[in-house]
Amino acid sequence: MAARIIDGKAIAADVRAEVAAGVAAFVADGSPPPGLAVVLVGEDPASHVYVANKVRQTESVGMSSQQYILDAATTERELLDLVARLNADNRVHGILVQFPLPSHIDTARVVSAINPGKDVDGFNPLNVGRTATGMKGALTPCTPLGVMRLIHSVHDNVAGLGALVVGASNVVGRPMARLLLQEQCTVSVAHVLTTDLERRCREADILVVATGVPGLIRGQFIKPGATVIDVGITRIKSSSGTERLVGDVAFDEAIEVAGAITPVPGGVGPMTIACLLANTLSAARSSIGESDEDAHGQGTLPAMSGSVTAMQA
Ligand code: NAD
Repeated sequence: MAARIIDGKAIAADVRAEVAAGVAAFVADGSPPPGLAVVLVGEDPASHVYVANKVRQTESVGMSSQQYILDAATTERELLDLVARLNADNRVHGILVQFPLPSHIDTARVVSAINPGKDVDGFNPLNVGRTATGMKGALTPCTPLGVMRLIHSVHDNVAGLGALVVGASNVVGRPMARLLLQEQCTVSVAHVLTTDLERRCREADILVVATGVPGLIRGQFIKPGATVIDVGITRIKSSSGTERLVGDVAFDEAIEVAGAITPVPGGVGPMTIACLLANTLSAARSSIGESDEDAHGQGTLPAMSGSVTAMQA
């Protein structure tokens, strides 16, 4: 039987609706709307599209947005000064510096300079540590957070399931593994030097793939009935010149074996910006001493509910 397709567009729309309701309640309680500042350095065309998208979606849920489009020749000092101004600006609850940065700027230094309470990308070392230890109040990277929400659309509870994350980047693979572990999955991480990938994949109840290698995961790699989440996005040009997006999983093969699978596009992609909005709302609530749980009895995203105690199990 063909796998169920996990509809990331629909689930992202649910998250945006939850965020919009949360923003309305936040404002009704007398606070100014949560604000997101997006900073872009340079002329990377894909980054300009992402930023425009983020700004549009931020405003669509009732938040305010600020955009800083800086010249590619901007110095690291100038960027750090802007980050310092945004850290001090109480209209700004979330700061996102779009990657990649030009090579003359030290990305790690910029990430570390962002106030951890406004670090809605979740890359500041303090948030990395908080996420890793399951501490409340962590701002968690948006793509893994979105993936957890997609996984929860299939599994109410993932405790005890075997998960393999293929890809070990700081942006996706590593935080992904930490979130799955926090929810008590038995987690392995594979990367470019991992041997016998096919066998390892076939053992996984939950397979999350984030490599950027189109079609890496074939149908025979997949455990029958497994949940497969394809984070990969690669733009491929056909001989006729048209472009299409493909994932890391050979979808037509995998759908025959998996229990549930995300498509590309329309799977993980839409969740990333939706979770950025959720993180901005969380940051705004934290800035007035409220947690997501205080706000309306539950968090916007269930994946953030793990506890230190759960991690120690
Ligand atoms: P990255 O290049 O930083 O990391 C890739 C990882 O994959 C590395 O750990 C590498 O060791 C591993 N890898 C590469 N080839 C492999 C192979 N043959 N077998 C096993 N592992 C292999 O990439 P990233 O930033 O983590 O992004 C990965 C993919 O996810 C890209 O296609 C990217 O566009 C996509 N992505 C999508 C979203 C989204 O919102 N949907 C967000 C972030 C990244």
